[in-house]
Amino acid sequence: MNAPATPDHVALVTGGNRGIGRAIAERLVRDGYRVAVTARSGEGPEGTLTVRADVNDGASLDAAVAQIEAELGPVTTIVANAGVTKDTLLMRMSDDDFTSVVDTNLGGAFRTVKRAIRSMLRAKHGRIILISSVSGLFGVAGQANYSASKAGLVGFARAITRELGGRGITANVVAPGFIESDMTAQLDEKTQKTYQTQIPAGRFGSADEIAGVVSWLASDDASYISGAVIPVDGGLGMGH
Ligand code: NDP
Repeated sequence: MNAPATPDHVALVTGGNRGIGRAIAERLVRDGYRVAVTARSGEGPEGTLTVRADVNDGASLDAAVAQIEAELGPVTTIVANAGVTKDTLLMRMSDDDFTSVVDTNLGGAFRTVKRAIRSMLRAKHGRIILISSVSGLFGVAGQANYSASKAGLVGFARAITRELGGRGITANVVAPGFIESDMTAQLDEKTQKTYQTQIPAGRFGSADEIAGVVSWLASDDASYISGAVIPVDGGLGMGH
């Protein structure tokens, strides 16, 4: 188990009501963080504070961060996890299919980080962890919107690293491969099998395998890592 980064450690996980975000929130609770999750619906896991927020809606994030800071204290770790897919071939992709996915996956991370960064600057300590995807660097046919949004997170993390690296704040990207969740359950069995044959590990990963890497990046052990992209993909995207 990784030790939490500070004695007054408060972590915010977006989209922590299900899937990978939920597993990350559970892990950070076990690590000893005070954990808040944002959710549009449902609840975060036991031991977390659930706040309603839509990452597309800046006002709801303003209210969420204010509530978290009032109830748990200043946020020191952000996990920008909320994300969506709207897959289709480029020729069929509408302007809205593109902009809505980029606005949720990339814009949502920006809006979340921007609102929680003030307390990190005051504390001279912060961990920003952005959940990207193998799709962002490998490129996936039918995911022009999603791949672009996830690649954008790499530039975002690296700009933050240059801007705030001297203030005790790190920003890193975790790039999961295929992970068992509602998102991959949408793929039919034949497609799942085809993808599995391309993964050197021969299987999809679990949300807990992502959560373990996030836990480590948030810990003191990762204090000198920033602007990095950590693939957690069973070897699928080698060469990032
Ligand atoms: P799920 O579809 O299971 O969960 C997505 C989460 O994001 C939900 O909590 C959802 O909330 C939340 N969310 C979506 N849109 C918004 C929004 N506008 N505002 C607030 N919350 C929102 O996905 P996963 O758990 O699989 O994925 C989590 C992250 O990991 C995503 O960023 C995804 O792109 C990434 N990823 C996943 C992979 C996989 O194989 N599963 C592979 C690579 C990356 P709600 O319940 O309200 O819809």
